[in-house]
Amino acid sequence: MQANDATPATGEMAWARLVPHILQLRRRLDRLEAARLAPRDPDLGEQALAAEGDEVDAAIEAALRDKLSEAEAALERIAAGRYGRCLDCGEPIAEARLRALPTARRCAACEARAGAAHG
Ligand SMILES: [Zn+2]
Repeated sequence: MQANDATPATGEMAWARLVPHILQLRRRLDRLEAARLAPRDPDLGEQALAAEGDEVDAAIEAALRDKLSEAEAALERIAAGRYGRCLDCGEPIAEARLRALPTARRCAACEARAGAAHG
């Protein structure tokens, strides 16, 4: 039996944090969607203001969706037993990093490299 570097405790801890996080994100997205679909009173004369609000909502919604898919991907990694391992170098991600960022996919060194490459 081979020892697993990614401790189950880390995965459990992340799961316990990610599940309520996901539920909260879904609720916020539901509310945004409901607000978007709600009919507006055309007599208010606030279309310009409303349109501006729509843009902000769209940006918020996109950010929430990103976070949601990151959190869901992290849950999938936990379920698959691959959580806490860097996608790039395969080394275990530091537990302190996972505590600070449960959705982390890379170790700090690879994340810095990836960030530099993208940006
Ligand atoms: Zn790495």
